[in-house]
Amino acid sequence: MSNTVRLADRTAFSSVDGAGLRTVIWFQGCVHRCKGCHNPSTHDLHGGEQFEISAVLNWIRSLHWKKVTFSGGDPFLQAEALYALVSALKQEGYDIWVYTGYTLDQIKKDSNMVKCLNHIDVLVDGPYISELKNPNLKFRGSSNQKIHYLTKMP
Ligand code: SF4
Repeated sequence: MSNTVRLADRTAFSSVDGAGLRTVIWFQGCVHRCKGCHNPSTHDLHGGEQFEISAVLNWIRSLHWKKVTFSGGDPFLQAEALYALVSALKQEGYDIWVYTGYTLDQIKKDSNMVKCLNHIDVLVDGPYISELKNPNLKFRGSSNQKIHYLTKMP
């Protein structure tokens, strides 16, 4: 089990990264290289800053707000760290969204990644494809990306 996670940033309260006002944890590192990506500074696998997972959890808890989103970068590239975060927060009753450039099918085929799914409420999957960009879409940038309600429908 990983004790640390490499992050690009964190945002206390965001209204554009999932349903409602949410805490956002931005993972560092992405391999998908989507054309037109809005967060290219998160791509470098060695960039950002390394944090103790316990410190990240304590920062999230200190906000006393039980809606959290993990984005990036791609959180599933640090699947063990993502698992440690989402499993701890789910036990405490948090509502958890995760954004990823992988598809749900790809995640299901990876033994490390798939473990996270039981602790995630909503997964927004797939790479951003600029040719399929649609500004009218809720919670995602291009029409290939799907919102998977893994626990309950809204
Ligand atoms: S998955 Fe997200 S962070 Fe990664 S390249 Fe695509 S849009 Fe950018």
